[in-house]
Amino acid sequence: MFADLHLHTQFSDGTYSPEEMVTEARRHDLAALALTDHDTVEGCPRAALACQSAGIEFIPGTELTAEQADKELHILGYLIDVHNPRLLTELARFQTVRQNRIREMVTLLNQAQVPLKADAVFALANCRAPGRPHVARALVQAGLCSSLDQAFERFLKKNRPAWVPKFKMSASAAIELIHHAGGVAVMAHPGLTRSDEVIPGMVEAGLDGIECFHTKHSTATAEHYLEIADRFHLLVTGGSDCHGLSKGKPLIGTVKLPYQHVEKLKLRAEERKAAAARS
Ligand code: AMP
Ligand code: FE
Ligand code: FE
Ligand code: ZN
Repeated sequence: MFADLHLHTQFSDGTYSPEEMVTEARRHDLAALALTDHDTVEGCPRAALACQSAGIEFIPGTELTAEQADKELHILGYLIDVHNPRLLTELARFQTVRQNRIREMVTLLNQAQVPLKADAVFALANCRAPGRPHVARALVQAGLCSSLDQAFERFLKKNRPAWVPKFKMSASAAIELIHHAGGVAVMAHPGLTRSDEVIPGMVEAGLDGIECFHTKHSTATAEHYLEIADRFHLLVTGGSDCHGLSKGKPLIGTVKLPYQHVEKLKLRAEERKAAAARS
């Protein structure tokens, strides 16, 4: 039995609907899956229903954008209460920041003589947590760039003409928010940022786990983070980080986490929920 604990849908920058994601999960024979859209939990109710019909265990989740020591970090929150009022208020704030950032990026593009309209990006994104991939897709759709990669390279990457920094919460605030919502906090794809120096501080802040298995982790990288998990007594997770068809081939099915790790995640969530209820 295997799980994929890192998946995106149309509710952030993926291309699958929750139902399509579940159909793909079924094709790959997954026993459990987690939906981890960026800064939102909007897709969770539909994904839960689709999983129920497909006989797949559903783990509600989100991927929060955070920072520590000036580095962008992604914190996965698992088994959170997706109706928690404070969580929803904080997410709404992030979503407003993301929407304003789209407008700022479009203004910068226009100043660079690229005639894109913000409404075109919002229409294409059709979600509350739009991001740079939606701007890139709109640029390609309008014939202003030839590919998503070109859009990032020419305009959207850090220090390019349309780059706008994004407001981020601190990693410790993200961990605290996830715990407040009764969830388990996991550092996403540490091999992408390679900022191992921030791990002890995050453990201090209550980090529960680390994503050792990820599409972009080599075997050596996975082993490195398994050792770190062992050293800091962290849970081990893994997922494909599939964004549907937006980055070429869908990645779902490329990372298969043994189910025993899901069992441990659920035990920790029970502890976190009990602690949240006490506070
Ligand atoms: P944002 O959260 O708006 O800053 O956008 C970040 C998203 O952009 C991440 O989910 C990445 O997967 C995606 N991304 C970053 N660089 C590229 C690239 N060169 N091509 C396609 N997608 C990218
Ligand atoms: Fe993404
Ligand atoms: Fe991420
Ligand atoms: Zn992700």
